[in-house]
Amino acid sequence: MRHWRRSLMAVLISGSALLAHADSACFDRSKEPYTFIVDSHLHFQPFSGRSVDFQTMVGFLAEAGIRYANVYGIGQTRIDDWECLKYGRGCANSTIRPTMKNDFINANHISQTPNTQVGLTLSMTFIDLQNPETIVDRMALLDGEFPGLFRWMGEANVVKQSLFGWGHRPASLENIDNWSPFMALLRERNMPLALHSDLGNDDEPLKYLNLMEYILESYPDNVIVWMHLGMSREQTDMDPVEHQQLLRQLMDAHPNLWLDISWNVLYDYYFRDEQRRSQYVALLNDYASRTLTGTDLVANERTRYEHYERALYQNSYINQYLSDEAFRYIALGQSYFELLGLNEVAPEICE
Ligand SMILES: [Zn+2]
Repeated sequence: MRHWRRSLMAVLISGSALLAHADSACFDRSKEPYTFIVDSHLHFQPFSGRSVDFQTMVGFLAEAGIRYANVYGIGQTRIDDWECLKYGRGCANSTIRPTMKNDFINANHISQTPNTQVGLTLSMTFIDLQNPETIVDRMALLDGEFPGLFRWMGEANVVKQSLFGWGHRPASLENIDNWSPFMALLRERNMPLALHSDLGNDDEPLKYLNLMEYILESYPDNVIVWMHLGMSREQTDMDPVEHQQLLRQLMDAHPNLWLDISWNVLYDYYFRDEQRRSQYVALLNDYASRTLTGTDLVANERTRYEHYERALYQNSYINQYLSDEAFRYIALGQSYFELLGLNEVAPEICE
């Protein structure tokens, strides 16, 4: 177990809050695990069916050494679930859409459950980027019910090809123009926006790049986290050299753009292979202070600790190869602490 984690536990037991500083002990990478301690990308609500028990999930996180996590619902839900689960018949596969139900459920759990184990950042996942007109009103509704609780927005889908069979379509440039009112509110409240936006696919690697570029050019002052480096199961053969060059250009041109390296798609197709990985290690070493990590686990009633642990190890795999500084920012959470202005500092790495 990590020294500083043990010292944090002592602070917790003594009754102080989660936001205590770690002690000055350095972090010894040769002895400590390489798994990350902030899961900034975790879905507490499933696409369909019943969700994992909230406290059970928090228990998994604590057991795995996670100290902070983002609480996402999910950006697309099978809308007829409640009816078809109630009567025990199969659900029709025709309708999915973003919904507020997720956010109410998560907010209820967080506000009603005493939890001193893991610092939780609640996210609004209801937003429908293709129909943005009602977002501001709905934000007000959630804020009215749960004042100050929501501090993040997303993961929301700009374009997610795996959902095309469910009626999802890419956001249009006109849709993006119409984000303006809620984007202003996010800036005012310092809320990051996490976007799933497929870069392209194996036939057309840059097919949807224009959407992300348009978003970044339209809203340069919003913090935008680009999920999964734009990769997906539809794009498993992006040229890593070209990919990291593109990401560097965008990161340099847009100081409020952040990267998310969660999801085992990245592990399976890009980080596990040594040659491919070397490109990404170089990229992350240079942009670690604007990089977040997480599991992207989509929990449901059948989720067990082993599932979480497997996702944690796969998504932490690349951490082993990072420079000390990048490891501190990404795996030990310094980037996340700075982004959210948390009163928390990651330990230095031992010489
Ligand atoms: Zn996700």
